[in-house]
Amino acid sequence: MSEHDPNCIFCKIVEGKIPSKKVYEDDDILAFHDIHPWAPVHFLMIPKRHIASLAHAQPKDAEVLGRMMALVGELAMKEGARPYPEGGFRVVVNTGADGGQEVHHLHLHVIGGPRPWLKG
Ligand code: 5GP
Ligand code: ZN
Repeated sequence: MSEHDPNCIFCKIVEGKIPSKKVYEDDDILAFHDIHPWAPVHFLMIPKRHIASLAHAQPKDAEVLGRMMALVGELAMKEGARPYPEGGFRVVVNTGADGGQEVHHLHLHVIGGPRPWLKG
């Protein structure tokens, strides 16, 4: 599919070529556990369509990105984040080299659970 980058590991996860522990999936969105979790809850949410970073997001991407944000809370609770306000979670979108982005397919890190966490 032209919407997938053959060299992108997250596109390979979308296509099932690399296995992942799935948290959620629909036609446009996939969520799966990070292989190196920083905290008791740590999963990634991606648009299935390859968007290299948040710096590449266009108006046409607003719907899927909005749906991702609207889903985070529900999925975080399902994965074990404690309820707001005592609990909660962190959403991080590393973007570009200065932003610490290593995988160039837009992803939300959703991080939560009781502290301490490895990072932050
Ligand atoms: P970034 O630094 O780009 O924001 O984060 C990329 C994240 O992807 C890292 O936290 C890393 O652990 C995770 N990651 C990299 N490769 C894989 C993989 O093959 N499978 C999974 N589940 N996570 C990965
Ligand atoms: Zn990709």
